[in-house]
Amino acid sequence: MKLRKPQSCALCNKDLKFKYKPDKSWNIDGYLCSDCHMKTTREFVIKQKEEEEKNIKKQNQCFICNKQIEPEKKKKPRWQWNMENDIFLCEKCFEQKELAYQTKINYCVHCGKKIGLLRYNPKPKWNIDGQLCRQCWDTINISQN
Ligand SMILES: [Zn+2]
Ligand SMILES: [Zn+2]
Ligand SMILES: [Zn+2]
Repeated sequence: MKLRKPQSCALCNKDLKFKYKPDKSWNIDGYLCSDCHMKTTREFVIKQKEEEEKNIKKQNQCFICNKQIEPEKKKKPRWQWNMENDIFLCEKCFEQKELAYQTKINYCVHCGKKIGLLRYNPKPKWNIDGQLCRQCWDTINISQN
């Protein structure tokens, strides 16, 4: 970074006849000429508007496919899915997630067999995400010991 003379504009380096203090939020050190001050103000207002629009868009955006969702069709993910709190899903992604979730809780993650009422949670140290059938649980338990 080059050193700036105090009397020149922090952006265009022009000598300053009139100094304009930049807004704190612009993160500019020093002073600006009137042209740069005007330009930066304008850019900043535009940027702020864009930011606002982006936020509004995000509130109606599917977290997975990024599609815009009609407000009445927004779906909150189930808490069991371990997703962020303030997000929404479109119907399609919700159904896919739901299906994946049902598969995860109804089928052995190791062999793919459907598990009945007796399901076995893997030990945390196995680092397995899902549930196991009795057989796989035993197999892994033996191999891990
Ligand atoms: Zn300037
Ligand atoms: Zn989606
Ligand atoms: Zn299994």
